[in-house]
Amino acid sequence: MAKTERITCAPEEIDCHSPGRRDYHVLFEHPSIWGFYRVPVTVIVGPEAEDEKGVVAIGSVHGDEYEGPVAIKNLTHSLARGDVRGRVILIPVLNVAAFKTGTRDTMEDGVNLNRTFPGATDRTVTYKFSDFVTRQIFPHCHVVLDLHAGGRVMKFLPFPSFHADVTGQQRRQTEDLARGFGCQLTSAYHNMTPGLLVSTAEALGKITVGAELGFGQSIGCQGVQAAHRGMIHAMVKSGVLDSSTDLEGGVDRESQILIDSSVPGSGILADFTGHMEPLVDVGASLRKGDCIARLHNFERIDASPLEVLAPYDGIVAGLPTRAKVMEGQMVVMMGKVIEWMA
Ligand SMILES: [Zn+2]
Repeated sequence: MAKTERITCAPEEIDCHSPGRRDYHVLFEHPSIWGFYRVPVTVIVGPEAEDEKGVVAIGSVHGDEYEGPVAIKNLTHSLARGDVRGRVILIPVLNVAAFKTGTRDTMEDGVNLNRTFPGATDRTVTYKFSDFVTRQIFPHCHVVLDLHAGGRVMKFLPFPSFHADVTGQQRRQTEDLARGFGCQLTSAYHNMTPGLLVSTAEALGKITVGAELGFGQSIGCQGVQAAHRGMIHAMVKSGVLDSSTDLEGGVDRESQILIDSSVPGSGILADFTGHMEPLVDVGASLRKGDCIARLHNFERIDASPLEVLAPYDGIVAGLPTRAKVMEGQMVVMMGKVIEWMA
């Protein structure tokens, strides 16, 4: 494969307007060595691109989540420029610092990029990454895809997600793009965490879909395929990509389930530090009071385990990846089945 010629530029120098394809390395000064972090960004502006309209797909907001980065990287190779009618921006790895170390957060400053939005130029490098997205990328896009996975913390079925407080036309369009991932499950969840990429995009009126595409710091084929479908579908639906592009694959619409994880009690916390024995797997459909898992305390070897019970009729969306859990950690994410608007 021919080597891609990358343009090196400062964050404010990126060109998302001019027609054509440009592959960038956007430079952020390294905090401790003579050098820079280089964020790869591909911008494709087709002949029908409109101001403030476009689709951006972002991977590796967290550095130990891999399905999104792989699917976006693949797309930078496979997307034929002639098929792109509008504007596409692909950022396979946003937090290149955390990606290098394979950690959720940036090692240099100990900061979780997904708590720093909208970002700041006068703070540490992680804040500069989010500031770049907010000020240089968001103004050119009306659709934002933020592709995550469970890292080493949570085990998820691949599913797209959005905030439960998104309403009206924005909600219908969001649901439609979430369905395009072709996953069985989609999650609507609470909007209480400050500094999220998706909250910032939603507040700006963008059609915003997040996703949890795998777990265990691995690369799952289902998650990569879902990410690819979700991106292609979003680009076709928003008129950015030629409509003849193949949209086949994935779970059919009738079988897709929307769950609301913002319902009180959906995130069940561990009452003590111990080892969790799941009795069901993610995706299980349960009745209120069914036992999801048993929490064991091996320092009290003769004590009965604590039963973790389903708070309502619903679906198990997430479980811990690791056996050992700490007091206060979310050990089950549940969701109540609700009706689609789209
Ligand atoms: Zn993540």
